[in-house]
Amino acid sequence: MSTAGRRIGSTVLALAAAITLLSNCSAKVAGTAGPLGQLDPGSAGGIPVNSGASGPRPNVPDATLAVANSDHGEMDRLALNTLSDVDDYWKEQLPKVFGRQFKPASKLTSYDSAGPNLRVCGGREDTAGVVNAFYCDLDNSVSWDRGELLPGLVQSFGPLAVTMVLAHEMGHAVQSQLGPLSGVDNATPSIVLEQQADCYAGAFMRAVAEDKAKHFQMSTGDGLNKVLATTFFVRDQPGHSFKGQSAHGNAFDRVFAFQTGFTDGPKRCAQIDVAEINARITETAFRDDTDAAQNGNVPITTGNLQRMGRTLDQVFGRTGGKPTLSTDKPAQCSDAKTTTPTAYCPATDTVSMDLASLKIIGTHTKKGKGIGDFAAFGEVASRYVLSVQKSNNLPLDDANTGLRTACLVGYWGAAMKKGVDDLSLAAGDLDEAVAELLTTNSLIAADVNGKAAASGFSRVEAFRIGFLQGASTCMQKFD
Ligand SMILES: [Zn+2]
Repeated sequence: MSTAGRRIGSTVLALAAAITLLSNCSAKVAGTAGPLGQLDPGSAGGIPVNSGASGPRPNVPDATLAVANSDHGEMDRLALNTLSDVDDYWKEQLPKVFGRQFKPASKLTSYDSAGPNLRVCGGREDTAGVVNAFYCDLDNSVSWDRGELLPGLVQSFGPLAVTMVLAHEMGHAVQSQLGPLSGVDNATPSIVLEQQADCYAGAFMRAVAEDKAKHFQMSTGDGLNKVLATTFFVRDQPGHSFKGQSAHGNAFDRVFAFQTGFTDGPKRCAQIDVAEINARITETAFRDDTDAAQNGNVPITTGNLQRMGRTLDQVFGRTGGKPTLSTDKPAQCSDAKTTTPTAYCPATDTVSMDLASLKIIGTHTKKGKGIGDFAAFGEVASRYVLSVQKSNNLPLDDANTGLRTACLVGYWGAAMKKGVDDLSLAAGDLDEAVAELLTTNSLIAADVNGKAAASGFSRVEAFRIGFLQGASTCMQKFD
């Protein structure tokens, strides 16, 4: 969040928008391009959430693709098995979906970014110090750093993170081979190319989830959540603009593209174009130097929590729910379980909060468990919108409450774009929301008793639906 720049005019605008949407519950809401359809708290893109094994399949012979400079270690084994499965997928899909034959990469190179330099990509790229993986369309080649990048991915998110990253690189191969069929040429902006590649990776990962990949398997619960979380490893750092020369997108936008491919398949990926990007991309620069210095975060203090509470009062002013906000720690409640670090008690219509715990979640440190201010504020907002639901006679503990809650928090996030009461959405905030939503015990997507919707995939989608389409859609879609 950002407190820079009080902008009274914008506040009025944001309020007007809020009122229009909330008082318009039965009106048809214009669809926004994306992976929509009926959202189910127990499924991910239409596949029931399961908790099976995720990673390499045991007892499957390794792929035998040719690779230059390999050390024949575990990382290269992962990479080659991935590329073999990705090839199999596109050999089937490209003719089926686009009427084209797929050409696997002509050259694969493994390197160690800390080792001796190699010249790859037709002699145009060096590998020394390059902690990366890349596709090069000059010679249809894929190269990866087995020294630091791949082990880092495995350590943070498991082996499927490598699969996801290399599937993205091969997404560029697909895009390059499709050319005009994917709507791309030499002038296509980086963000469009990258969003398509993320989308193509999502389409392939669905085949993994559906047990169609020879070397890999993935559960749609924890396994898929970790793959989605991989976007944090590869996202642009907060403060980049999507208009930048090599923009890849923030995590929020990258997850969107991935989910689009996972849900709707490769044909939809090829349709991602500049117009769509301009309509929905959220990656922005920091507002000013103060905002940049704080990395888009304000401290979690009683004062800022009260200020944030006032934004909720304003955004949801016409819906009927206006709970009492208390900075006292959550205590016993007669008709709901007490959740931490913030809780909603229907009997007293009160949101309570534990400042010390919220501070931990809301403060990002390199080694700590903290995510950032939006995670803390979003959790408080999630308890607040339970009061909104209660006053609209919606159940607070049915199967859809978690997703409806995430959706309404997303709506509040969108209202904060323009700023309310000197507080506004900052670069990095939406990524913090995604990070919170993908944690096992997400509160932003939890019902009054703290039970989170089973599918992390659906939680993120629900939040985004609220963000893009407004509160009325939240009320209808998760009825
Ligand atoms: Zn890329």
